[in-house]
Amino acid sequence: MKNKPVIAIDCDDVIISTAPNIIDYYNLTYGTNIELKDYYSNDEQIWGADRNTFMTRVYTYLSTPEYQSLKPFQDALATIRELSNSYELHVVTARPDSLADITKKMLNEHFPDTFKSIIFTNHFSDKNISKADVCSQLNASYLIDDHLHHAQIAAASGVSVLLFGDYPWNQSTTLPDLITRVNDWQQVRDILLN
Ligand SMILES: [Mg+2]
Repeated sequence: MKNKPVIAIDCDDVIISTAPNIIDYYNLTYGTNIELKDYYSNDEQIWGADRNTFMTRVYTYLSTPEYQSLKPFQDALATIRELSNSYELHVVTARPDSLADITKKMLNEHFPDTFKSIIFTNHFSDKNISKADVCSQLNASYLIDDHLHHAQIAAASGVSVLLFGDYPWNQSTTLPDLITRVNDWQQVRDILLN
């Protein structure tokens, strides 16, 4: 039997809404005024704390029952299930190993027996591995990701990228040929399942 083509799929803000929820919680809890455009900023003034402290706060929030009870994007559920018939699917997330258990629990609850592996690239630490390297190890044909940085490095290594969503951190006037912008899972479906 011929192997299915491989797709690497990002988790945060692709499968499930993350940044908007973190920002709402963070502003409410710590009295800050962070906006969506500031989400990837390292400015300690904006976060009202040093980097270690604000990263710990963010990871603590992702571990709460409040965040854990959130559902993936509605159209991700059906489309990912459908994709799994024709593709080998892996989740490749920038999250750290410390969030592995809760992340796997969330994904397995909503997508049972769907992903062949769930890989943590520890992007925000010195254990960081690049998503381009992970795509190459997986022999991935596609990466679905919302961040321009991951999209660009993966495309530079020959992976076709679906740049997901309309977010402040993925705006660009020009994109390489291998990067296609998609607004939602319906557009992912149109491209990968037609
Ligand atoms: Mg993401």
